[in-house]
Amino acid sequence: MTNGFPQQLAGDNYAGICPEALEALNRANRGHVQSYGEDPWTHRACDLFREVFETDCEAFFVFTGTAANSLALASLCQSYHAIIAHELAHIETDECGAPQFFSNGAKILAGGGPCGKLMPQEIERLVTRRTDLHYPKPKVVSLTQSTELGTVYTPDELGAIGTVTADRNLRVQMDGARFANAVVSLGVAPKEISWRAGVDVLCLGGTKNGLPIGEVVIFFRHELAEDFEYRCKQAGQLASKMRFLAAPWVGVLESGAWLEHARHANECAATLEEKLRGIECVNIQFPREANAVFVEMPDTMVTNLHEKGWRFYTFIGTGGARLMCAWDTKEETIDAFVDDVKDWARGRAGGGG
Ligand SMILES: *Cc1c(COP(=O)(O)O)cnc(C)c1O
Repeated sequence: MTNGFPQQLAGDNYAGICPEALEALNRANRGHVQSYGEDPWTHRACDLFREVFETDCEAFFVFTGTAANSLALASLCQSYHAIIAHELAHIETDECGAPQFFSNGAKILAGGGPCGKLMPQEIERLVTRRTDLHYPKPKVVSLTQSTELGTVYTPDELGAIGTVTADRNLRVQMDGARFANAVVSLGVAPKEISWRAGVDVLCLGGTKNGLPIGEVVIFFRHELAEDFEYRCKQAGQLASKMRFLAAPWVGVLESGAWLEHARHANECAATLEEKLRGIECVNIQFPREANAVFVEMPDTMVTNLHEKGWRFYTFIGTGGARLMCAWDTKEETIDAFVDDVKDWARGRAGGGG
């Protein structure tokens, strides 16, 4: 069996397991421990989340980001409520209606905003647009950090959103599939862009940052976490061998690798952006603030790159090519990609096919 293809820039979940997570997984594989989260690895990981976020939070492990978002949102609203999100939010575009399904019908109110960001005025507009009994009542704002377009909300931007959500009595859920990339991009403590900025529940991503599998739902207010383990169990998200979801987190949190890997991915994206800039026909679309570079390029260039074996998506965001760097992205991969882009551009400039 061949093991995959040359390294790609298609997605951060094309990458494998980072050494710190794998080493912890191996250690957790020795001997017998309690099941369903009663084990030392799960307890240790939860303690580490309290250390990292510098607060008394509660953490729950689930298998996917879709489950994390959907169950977190369901715990924050009733079936007659509405969830305000950006129109490009993963919960709106990529979760097959799971947030609506798990909340028994809550409606997503999708709004616009520059570079994938929901702004306070837009939230205000969506909250006040309809206030009658015949329309779902807005109850939650869902923010993605870093965003689907590879940008980040600054602490000030989150603070301004927090003022609106406090005024309007809205809860805040954060889709942090790439939260670590935002932390290192901003150079702030994790608390500054989570609970201190008004976030009630954070869905913290691990898979895209070097874990084998698994995301964590972190509640910053105990009352909101009530019965959450029942919700997980009912949704088939309560792992019996929970230590194998928790141990990789222990590995990357204790070593600090969760931030180092995110920093590497961000830096690779910065390098990629720099090398692509200035090439004819290539247009960088959004401010590159995390580990993604969105590039507008001619369709024939996309086809040519695909023919050369490059895999990447062109349906995410606003139609450009999304190039994503991971914890293990190599400089050679970036250079090989840039060379192929340059080759195409040169061929075109020379009037050839
Ligand atoms: C990848 C991703 C998720 C999680 O997706 P799953 O495939 O369900 O694990 C959630 N939000 C965002 C923004 C993502 O990019």
